[in-house]
Amino acid sequence: MIEFSNVSKVYPNGVVGLDDVNLTIEQGEFVGIIGLSGAGKSTLINTIMDGFSPVQQSVFVFRDTIRNNITLFKEFDEEKVKKAADQAGLRELIDKRGLNDSCGENGNKLSGGERQRIAIARALLRGSQVLLLDEATAALDNQTSYAVIDAVLSMKEMTEIIVTHRLEEKLLYQYDEILVMHAGEIVEKGTFQELMQKKGFFYSLYVVSKE
Ligand code: ADP
Repeated sequence: MIEFSNVSKVYPNGVVGLDDVNLTIEQGEFVGIIGLSGAGKSTLINTIMDGFSPVQQSVFVFRDTIRNNITLFKEFDEEKVKKAADQAGLRELIDKRGLNDSCGENGNKLSGGERQRIAIARALLRGSQVLLLDEATAALDNQTSYAVIDAVLSMKEMTEIIVTHRLEEKLLYQYDEILVMHAGEIVEKGTFQELMQKKGFFYSLYVVSKE
């Protein structure tokens, strides 16, 4: 479980990144964070991340093989590596290129979706309890985004927290809870249906995005 009470973050220049945030996320929950640019989404993710090993959460791809990018250079059984890759939705890539193919400079031989799945496979292999993803780190098309979310949702015991910029009904329905941020605060939270019924800030963001 992730629990925060009255957490604030003020940057050295005086800008308030988080303003008195209270948050409880149960193990296994799938949580989306939504808000306009500057709302505090990255600050919240970074604050949550501070409680975990940054290596596990990194989406940085090394100029090395697919295998080493999944294992992060630690010894693991071949079977375990393949299983984690499969669950993360990397089977097609590995069938085509093998585990020993290079990911390229900064992962430039991988698509955005594949880079995110590498992060998911890392988390699975290491038995991480929490996966944090920021969709902005990869320019995903809609179809890839659905595929990544499917892979994420198949990991039932893991807590997944995703900063999402996609106001797509079908995707938003999948979250157990959506946290809506504005000016460093969580101004609303709930499922997609709950937030729509509320007709508050989330509702206006959603409606404006459809215009
Ligand atoms: P979001 O991810 O929702 O776009 P951020 O968490 O990046 O929002 O930013 C929240 C606020 O904190 C913004 O006003 C932003 O300008 C400010 N901020 C973020 N990072 C820094 C930083 N390193 N130094 C100073 N201000 C920052």
